[in-house]
Amino acid sequence: MPEIQLAGTRVQAGTHQVVHVPVAHDLTGPVTIPTHVVAGAHDGPTLLLLSMLHGNEWFSALILRELVARLDPATLRGAVLAVPVANPVAFLTDSRCILDNADEPDANRTFGGPYQWLSNQVTRAIADHLMRQSHAIIDYHVGGWGATMADVSYVTDFTRADVSSQSRAMALAYGFPVVHCLTIHSGLRGPRTSLGYAGEQFGIPGIVAEVGGLGWGVAREAEWIEQNLTGTVGVMRHLGMLDGEVPSLSRYLEVHDYWRVGPKAGGYLEPLVDLDRQLTEVAPGELMARIVDPQTFAVVDEVRCPGRGVLFYACRAHMVRPGGWAYGVASLEDGRTRWVTA
Ligand SMILES: [Zn+2]
Repeated sequence: MPEIQLAGTRVQAGTHQVVHVPVAHDLTGPVTIPTHVVAGAHDGPTLLLLSMLHGNEWFSALILRELVARLDPATLRGAVLAVPVANPVAFLTDSRCILDNADEPDANRTFGGPYQWLSNQVTRAIADHLMRQSHAIIDYHVGGWGATMADVSYVTDFTRADVSSQSRAMALAYGFPVVHCLTIHSGLRGPRTSLGYAGEQFGIPGIVAEVGGLGWGVAREAEWIEQNLTGTVGVMRHLGMLDGEVPSLSRYLEVHDYWRVGPKAGGYLEPLVDLDRQLTEVAPGELMARIVDPQTFAVVDEVRCPGRGVLFYACRAHMVRPGGWAYGVASLEDGRTRWVTA
């Protein structure tokens, strides 16, 4: 494997080094994205692992910490570029977006933007230094405190169909029993997300791994870290970077349309539907949570399921703002979402 070059630094094959990718100069000095380069001793693809494009989703930094500790550059084929904190500016404020009055504040909707807002410069640095030399990407998006995600997503409608089919194979190799089929040419997510841009601009297949969240206790969070390690290693085996069998899914939920079921009012969310209902059916109109005003103690909102579906995103009791993360329900009314048995 030839050496990896990143932002002017050469990393020898068979070594591991942290390289600071330059982003911008802000009020207090340089902004950089520290990137773990694990350069394998043997030939193979380069896999980009992005975590924390959203600054409050720090659970995935723990996944990459454990993964990097377990990788051995001497036996690795290809290279891993692992970014624990892709959006260090948003991380400073524990917020999804950078709080600088930008008109494109969400780094996962900003790729390819022409402006000089920090979100644009963060995504430009990721594209120019990291995506450009990668062959595949995993972008981790996990729950902020109190919420948990539970799916592995891929893009079904790339202009190049082979990029979509390679992405689907990566999603299945992750071995998680919820596979979410996204479109980038319609709906909320577009070609300016990490996956959309990597696939359309660079022809790189990829997945979004959304497994786990924060605020659930050490034992459960450790299980989710292990699930993500198994998934990431599964993808690396699928790509030929590591020896060993790719996990096979005997049964998984293929999700198409889904409802983000969240509160209209801010307050303390008291769940009636809990994590133990995950991957079970919820009924139309079912009361899922109550929102309590933290000052008057009045119930100010009821969160109800809009249709027949399968619960996958869940939440614990936590304080929410209007529209905040609560539940994700895969629609069983769209005629496409279904359980697939191998
Ligand atoms: Zn996210």
